[in-house]
Amino acid sequence: MTKPELTIPPFEPTPLEEIPKIAATLRESFRSQKTKDVEWRLVQLRKLWWGIQDYSELLQAALKKDLNKAWNEAIFSEITHTSSDLQLTLKKLKTWVKDDKDLDYPLSFAPLRPRIKKEPLGSALIIGPYNFPVMLNLAPFIGAIAAGCTAIIKPSESAPATAMVLKQLVENYLDTTCFAVVNGAVPETTALLEEKWDKIFYTGGSAIARIISRKAAETLTPVTLELGGRNPAFVTPAADLKLAARRLMWGKTLNAGQVCMSHNYVLVHRSVVDGFVAALNATTREFYPQGAQASPDYARIVNERQFDRIKKMLDNTRGKIVMGGENDRDDLFIAPTAVLVDSIDDSMMQEESFGPIWSILPYDDLDEAIKVANSVDPTPLTVVTFGSKEENEKILNRITSGGATINDSYMHGAVSTLPFGGVGESGTGSYHGRASFDCFTHRRTVVATPSWMESLLRSRYPPHSPFDFKL
Ligand code: NAD
Repeated sequence: MTKPELTIPPFEPTPLEEIPKIAATLRESFRSQKTKDVEWRLVQLRKLWWGIQDYSELLQAALKKDLNKAWNEAIFSEITHTSSDLQLTLKKLKTWVKDDKDLDYPLSFAPLRPRIKKEPLGSALIIGPYNFPVMLNLAPFIGAIAAGCTAIIKPSESAPATAMVLKQLVENYLDTTCFAVVNGAVPETTALLEEKWDKIFYTGGSAIARIISRKAAETLTPVTLELGGRNPAFVTPAADLKLAARRLMWGKTLNAGQVCMSHNYVLVHRSVVDGFVAALNATTREFYPQGAQASPDYARIVNERQFDRIKKMLDNTRGKIVMGGENDRDDLFIAPTAVLVDSIDDSMMQEESFGPIWSILPYDDLDEAIKVANSVDPTPLTVVTFGSKEENEKILNRITSGGATINDSYMHGAVSTLPFGGVGESGTGSYHGRASFDCFTHRRTVVATPSWMESLLRSRYPPHSPFDFKL
């Protein structure tokens, strides 16, 4: 293992002609049976763990360069999150790989000793997004290694520094005949999609997910899709407004709101709108006494394209900015911004903001508010609620979502070992912890019919008679 270099290499796409060769090497390695050995997988996972520790500072520097991610955010939402998922996998893998024998079947089949054998799916392609480029590439990768797959990571070109450091890390620490990082944008991803995979794991927007799903369908390749959506939050008159404001502000200021689970709009009971807006403004002053732009704790929008998209939502709103609104394209800065809107037709409600801006939509009746949320996006990635116990339950029972948090912003996603995933338009499949192992595993049912059963089985053979014993 080479000690990490102290500099971040300039972004270099993988040459297109290399891609089929890398994919072929991985397929060949999978066929060699090397990855089926559980001890070998554990060695690779341990090496990855050490790689993450050794590269921790360089990864933090890369995240700073790509997103101006504050060091504490880089540590807790990327490096620690990934490391604790990896630690659990190291601890539990020997249990997860065991055959399942605790199965439901009629007693008459007991002599066949039914079991489910855990088989790796094969060679996996992992395509990652830019917002949490360490965690969102490595978490599925951990699952692929644990399950016994070979795997390629294709990080987002929009976080180029992190993409290059991840490539170094994987090449310096892992078996490069089984694992690789391919860097690049659309041409490189398209070339990867021309290859035959046994599993594609994609995290990103739903438009690209459709391209990937169409391509995967041509070869009947299974896909897991981790997508976004327009996530609602609810603040009812029963909520502690200060607490709700603080926690929702945290959810929208972490990584400058470039979080798939963050709320896009808050349905606030009309009677508490003024109090909630006052609490939001007080929280901004508390979090950023010198203003968010001057704060070392506040990230930037990843690039001009994303900045312009978010700014357009703000420029076109008919609503009233009740907090923030400042922005600076040269610095890719957009302040935490809340806009009071009166309709779901407003530009602020028309797409996922994936940035530090969100709408406040007042409501008078909770049943109506739930209907509104279901019409804006029937299957968001997240729902968060600040209300009474009954109100929270009512909201959760009537709105489908990938995950949900009560009395906080998306904390369900912070528990790095629990299954995480979307539903409907926000994705399909889940991962993290045991779910990551399952995601890259085929559950193969195996039975063994004992020879001595032949006399019991004779009725299944022709010629049949009306007196055949029925099993
Ligand atoms: P992105 O621009 O980084 O793209 C994601 C990946 O798709 C990249 O690796 C990119 O190279 C690849 N890609 C881009 N165009 C492609 C094409 N034409 N063909 C094949 N691949 C292509 O990220 P994004 O898509 O803008 O990410 C933001 C979205 O991702 C948001 O909707 C967000 O909610 C969602 N997201 C979801 C999760 C989750 O866990 N559910 C996590 C993060 C982001």
